[in-house]
Amino acid sequence: MWRNWAGNQAMSPAQVMHPRGTDEIAAAVKEAASGGRRVKAIGSGHSFTGIGLTDGVLLQLDRHAELIKVDQESKQVTVAAGMPLSTLNATLIENGLGLTNMGDIDVQTVSGAISTGTHGTGRASGSIAHQVAGLELALADGSVVNCSRQERPELFEMARVGLGALGVITAVTFQAEPMFALTADERPMPLDDVLDGFEELVAGNEHFEFYWFPHTRVALTKRNNRSTELAPLSRRRAWVDDELLSNKVFEATCRAGALMPRIIPGINKVAARALSARTYTDVAPHVFTSPRKVRFCEMEYAVPRADLPAVFRELTTLPESMGERISFPVECRVAPADDIPLSTASGRDSAYIAVHVFRGTRFDRYFDAVEKLMGTVAGRPHWGKLHNLDAAVLRERYPRFDDFLAVRRELDPEGVFRNAYLDRVLGPV
Ligand SMILES: Cc1cc2nc3c(=O)[nH]c(=O)nc-3n(C[C@H](O)[C@H](O)[C@H](O)COP(=O)(O)OP(=O)(O)OC[C@H]3O[C@@H](n4cnc5c(N)ncnc54)[C@H](O)[C@@H]3O)c2cc1C
Repeated sequence: MWRNWAGNQAMSPAQVMHPRGTDEIAAAVKEAASGGRRVKAIGSGHSFTGIGLTDGVLLQLDRHAELIKVDQESKQVTVAAGMPLSTLNATLIENGLGLTNMGDIDVQTVSGAISTGTHGTGRASGSIAHQVAGLELALADGSVVNCSRQERPELFEMARVGLGALGVITAVTFQAEPMFALTADERPMPLDDVLDGFEELVAGNEHFEFYWFPHTRVALTKRNNRSTELAPLSRRRAWVDDELLSNKVFEATCRAGALMPRIIPGINKVAARALSARTYTDVAPHVFTSPRKVRFCEMEYAVPRADLPAVFRELTTLPESMGERISFPVECRVAPADDIPLSTASGRDSAYIAVHVFRGTRFDRYFDAVEKLMGTVAGRPHWGKLHNLDAAVLRERYPRFDDFLAVRRELDPEGVFRNAYLDRVLGPV
């Protein structure tokens, strides 16, 4: 029995394989397809949706995770699809390189992260998929193809955020840049000041985000900007902030809140009052990412950036109006419009709103209400995070939805890569 990180998805595939090398992966796909079985590659299981589930052949790419090539001139780096982002970051640092932007953890595989559109926050820098310069894929018929802006550009467009629906990615080429440092400036602010000044805060920082503490009017703001002088946190301060407070103490308060929900507003008020400012400078991946050990379930929607302040204000009224007690802060990030058809930021400047609940806590009422609100501004759900939308609604929210389906039909006419989640969000092949 396989389970995802959050523990809310499980599967018992008919067969589990650990292929090594593109040829073994392509052969596994071909053999399964010719036997009428479905195939799914899985990454590190950090999606909350059933996007990676299969009852057929599960390909775990943990033995297909090595560095393939570093081209110092173009700053392009090619890695096998199962490489975790943490290994990619370490490899890039060793070569004096770095990714322009990342999400807030680094344990996902490169192929899993791009397949669902994993993103961080950036005024001008987009998702991890947006930093991909080329892909190698094993298709449903067992053939292997390469794609980039120059080679099979239509497939490249679609496969960067391909939901695992077009083929098994076997290698990913990233467009990196020279390694750089970021200064993190983290401080609490009144939520209303953040929302009133949202556009200025985004425009004034390379990477701006904030966390609102439900049942309070306080937000923790984070501004990350490029810098040259390294001034990392001491090991002790990093341990106290990132390990003790953000994980151990937070887990304890979440547990207490799960047992006695009525104390959650009080806990959040104390936590919001205890927030303090900190600033440090470190190599970028150490600033972008931090350990996340408290397990949770999450929904995240991308909304048009201009709608963020109004829709976020509305969101802050939900917990009280519904009688819900929410312990987890609500996270808000941004991304510029990009050109990837199924990217949540496709064709529009976006702001992301992410709601979380502690694992084991009921989330349906809260998430349903948030989803309804996001629908009022044509919100697009993260493909790897919980949502209830289907193909009929999603087609309205993605102008190039049918182009994606056409490529899918051409490459996988028998539905070798389909599963129940893809049937819902894309429709049957
Ligand atoms: C603690 C936590 C923090 C997170 N932080 C962020 C964040 O900051 N930003 C954000 O946007 N998301 C975030 N996420 C969501 C997460 O990044 C995505 O769900 C991501 O897809 C997970 O990567 P994975 O390697 O675990 O892939 P999986 O969840 O294992 O798989 C995801 C999809 O990728 C497909 N796939 C995997 N490998 C291949 C392959 N080789 N070829 C084709 N398809 C493949 C799978 O079939 C599946 O459809 C977070 C999730 C958690 C649990």
